[in-house]
Amino acid sequence: MKEMVPYGRQDISESDIQAVVNVLRSDFLTQGPAVPAFEKAVADYCGAAYAVAVNSATSALHIACLAAGLGPRDWLWTSPNTFVASANCGLYCGAKIDFVDIDPRTYNLDTNILEQKLRDAEQKGRLPKIVVPVHFAGQSCDMMRIHNLAKRYGFSVVEDASHAIGGRYHEHIIGNCAFSDMTVFSFHPVKIITTGEGGVVLTNREDLYEKLIRLRSHGITRNPQVMQGESHGPWYYQQIDLGFNYRMNDMQAALGASQMGRLDDFVKRRHLIARRYNDGLKELPIVLPWQNPDTYSALHLYVIRLKTYKTSKTHRMVFEELRGAGIGVNLHYIPVHIHPYYRNLGFKYGDFPEAERYYQEAISIPIYFGLTDDSQNFVIDSIKRILQ
Ligand SMILES: *Cc1c(COP(=O)(O)O)cnc(C)c1O
Repeated sequence: MKEMVPYGRQDISESDIQAVVNVLRSDFLTQGPAVPAFEKAVADYCGAAYAVAVNSATSALHIACLAAGLGPRDWLWTSPNTFVASANCGLYCGAKIDFVDIDPRTYNLDTNILEQKLRDAEQKGRLPKIVVPVHFAGQSCDMMRIHNLAKRYGFSVVEDASHAIGGRYHEHIIGNCAFSDMTVFSFHPVKIITTGEGGVVLTNREDLYEKLIRLRSHGITRNPQVMQGESHGPWYYQQIDLGFNYRMNDMQAALGASQMGRLDDFVKRRHLIARRYNDGLKELPIVLPWQNPDTYSALHLYVIRLKTYKTSKTHRMVFEELRGAGIGVNLHYIPVHIHPYYRNLGFKYGDFPEAERYYQEAISIPIYFGLTDDSQNFVIDSIKRILQ
């Protein structure tokens, strides 16, 4: 039987493997030098002052929310077209969640709707404490406008850039936090670079950095300046917050540092693949991904949208036929608010119609560094055969 072509996968080189082996032969498997070296590589690449590496982007979002002071009675707003973690981080802090419907071209949260919703929320006295823009598929949200709204309405901005390392917005490298308080990347194997599992929070603010470092490791500090009272001696530390064990280990960090050296090649290859899809699929009854000229996407995903009114097949039929042909298509995303857990919180179908309409038409097709031209041609030919 033929193997399934996945929608995404990691690419591990011999030097990536050697970097991990070197850690295994070294003195430290965790809390050694590889983690700060990886943090420096990510911060330097992005042009951010600080990076805090953790064991997942989910953990990164959680401590970012805590560092920004999110708590019960507060609101966090995000896009409904995202992985559940972008919203769950608010629930972990006891906050309430709301969503901002998506732009029909970028599938990112719609800044016109955001502005209108902020105006209404101000009247009702329910402004959000944090807004989490998600750079869907690797394409940046309209960060200048979000930044201006943040100043006007006084909320913090945490970018969920899980799809977007290696991408740019105008002349800015995503992760430089020029228009946000913090930015989060994911290093899950389907993302642009990987550490197996892992994530990072970037920030330019020293106060947030200090909090993030503590929250990652039990809320413990060894800095006498922030302790209460006198140090008891050289062994001494104090717990001053309720933190977690969200640490990244040195094997993960070494893999990540090695992958950082390959990041630009990864993103370039994704652009070549996207160009071949744009060309090969242009005559079909589908909407191809729209690229905002102000952005350079990291292209984590390549999403096609079926014009179901122009085909005799349903979205589900097309999806199942592609899977049947051995193509591991996927769907990003089931709108967060229609998951049972969120419906139990009071959300319902119809609340965010653009995200729901998108969900009925979207299919993520394979895009990853190691996708061969032959495999890609097979994907293109299969889609043509199924839709023509
Ligand atoms: C993958 C992803 C996450 C979660 O990342 P983990 O590292 O798996 O915890 C969060 N948000 C978005 C948008 C993602 O794609």
